[in-house]
Amino acid sequence: ESVQAIESGVPLVGIFGGTFDPIHNGHLRVAEEIAETIGLRELRFVPAGIPRLRHAPAASLQHRAAIVGLAIRGNSRFVLDEREVRRHGVSYSVESLRELRREMGECVILCFIIGADAFMKLADWHSWRELFGLCHFIIVARPGYALASNRYALPQELEDECAQRWASSADSLKYTPSGLVFIAPTTLLDISATSIRAHIAAGKSVRYLMPDAAIDYIAANHLYSGGG
Ligand code: ATP
Ligand code: MG
Repeated sequence: ESVQAIESGVPLVGIFGGTFDPIHNGHLRVAEEIAETIGLRELRFVPAGIPRLRHAPAASLQHRAAIVGLAIRGNSRFVLDEREVRRHGVSYSVESLRELRREMGECVILCFIIGADAFMKLADWHSWRELFGLCHFIIVARPGYALASNRYALPQELEDECAQRWASSADSLKYTPSGLVFIAPTTLLDISATSIRAHIAAGKSVRYLMPDAAIDYIAANHLYSGGG
């Protein structure tokens, strides 16, 4: 896995941004599979601050980041990246990717992991076209967002932007600095943070939907229980 990346010269670093309200086994399993298939040197989880394009998260960014930390503990390739916690306010992925580019220089290739549901809305993101100059996109399918002839039915401007960017193999990611779009083959897991929040609010178990340490933290801090 990581041996592949080293052999090719430039290591690949995965970036997984999200509200993570809370992180769950859907995120974790997909991350593990991608790290293995593409040969990521490390995979950074970047919990987002206030999202510009969706409702406010139910838990504070500090709590959400703490849960990510507990959930990835023990996986030496997974890293909690708290830059959006430190930045405060509205989160723009493009800012984090610019920063990571500056910090890591040209000696790594950044791969931004994104679910098909989120990728469909990419053209609404701040400075979205700039992202293709900063990273590759690794798209993961989600139940309900099926592949249509190996691509998604994307909004026109996104479809046009991606037209020349589709990568046919994970291997090609290593030989281009940024701007490719790769649909990663991953296990479809019908788990969402929305359903987890609903389970907890209803007093139902979320065991096996997310790591035990994360569940314990949520219980100890009375998160998502609906009582405020
Ligand atoms: P919510 O229901 O609150 O939107 P979520 O489960 O979609 O939560 P997010 O934090 O919104 O989780 O997702 C972060 C990223 O992970 C997004 O790119 C999203 O598409 C992706 N993702 C979330 N759950 C899955 C899953 N089960 N399989 C694949 N990708 C996922
Ligand atoms: Mg979501």
